[in-house]
Amino acid sequence: MNNSKKLGINTSCVHVGEVKDEQFKGAVSPMYMSTSYAFDDVAIKRYPRYFNTPNQEMLCKKIAALEHTEDGLIFSSGMAAISAAMFAFLKTGDHVIIQQVIYGGTYNFIVSEFDKYGIEYSFTESDKVADFKALIKDNTKILYIETPSNPLLGITDIAAISSLAKAHGMLTMIDNTFASPINQNPADLGIDIILHSATKYMGGHSDISAGAIAASKKHIEQIWKTAINFGGNLSDQTVWLLERSLKTLNLRVKEQTKNAQEMATYLEGNENIDRVYYPGLKSHPQYELAKKQMKGFGAMLSFELKEGIDAMEFQNALQLIKPSMSLAGLESTTVSPAQTTHALLSEKQRLERGIKDGLIRFSVGIEEAEDLIADIEQAIEKVKS
Ligand SMILES: *Cc1c(COP(=O)(O)O)cnc(C)c1O
Repeated sequence: MNNSKKLGINTSCVHVGEVKDEQFKGAVSPMYMSTSYAFDDVAIKRYPRYFNTPNQEMLCKKIAALEHTEDGLIFSSGMAAISAAMFAFLKTGDHVIIQQVIYGGTYNFIVSEFDKYGIEYSFTESDKVADFKALIKDNTKILYIETPSNPLLGITDIAAISSLAKAHGMLTMIDNTFASPINQNPADLGIDIILHSATKYMGGHSDISAGAIAASKKHIEQIWKTAINFGGNLSDQTVWLLERSLKTLNLRVKEQTKNAQEMATYLEGNENIDRVYYPGLKSHPQYELAKKQMKGFGAMLSFELKEGIDAMEFQNALQLIKPSMSLAGLESTTVSPAQTTHALLSEKQRLERGIKDGLIRFSVGIEEAEDLIADIEQAIEKVKS
């Protein structure tokens, strides 16, 4: 395991945590579907909901290697991972500080569940570290961040959040879904608990629902104790599919990231586009910070269509790029935040958050950039005429 840190990224993606096929010497991990194992096998008996079947246990090693942590845990969804991590460390009377702009499902989880258990929470007003600092109370246990954030690709200073938390004896959690372990390793910047919706880049083919956590052995042990009670383990069939997906994680995400940079540059120069949000553009207000803490700028971006070009009509006119709620697949997809993820907010609330009606979130896939550009151009022409 410790050796795995020294392996190249593609080698780790392919080989770390393989289940050896001793019986037939097959090239890939056998899939162990048993829900029952002999007692003498491990100290704690193997059982799917104990997160320790052979495929689960081995895949955790790959997750840990990719995130530069000691250990990992795999769940049936991103929200199963996020909720288990929060409840593992929080009890009645504790307080959490949460970044204002976070994934909608995480926001709903916090506002609809925490009150029932008497867990206090405060949302920051921005992603600035001073905002977190101002909200610290005696009972604050966790600082929770998400960077790059959705949908405007804001960047939070990961190292500064880590040191603020350490100075106050608090725990840090990050949702690292948008960057993926290929573009950002928060453990290297001092973050304690790293959360992923593996439904996104880790799965990468828009056909798996999964979640993952990477952290120290000590923290994973504590999360595990809560996780076995909530029961959000991933079926071994899907664990096996996730292992297959992770073998190409670096190849996919590198290509998608390269494409996103090309698309962002193209969109910024397009006269029908008002504004492009991408951390890899020099025009991004936190470009320098992104450059410092990310290995690559990621494959998510957003752009605003000029007034008069309707966002829904534009998306319906696309032929290659698919309008779709989810993200991070091999195929390029778009979504209109005002119509979907932020539809429940009033127009005024949306504008306060910088979300205009013409804003499009773009998850860039592996198709050639020239094909994506041609698709966008024909769609704009169609809507304008
Ligand atoms: C999708 C997503 C989640 C939730 O993951 P699920 O697999 O849908 O439960 C959490 N955070 C981010 C940033 C996401 O995009």
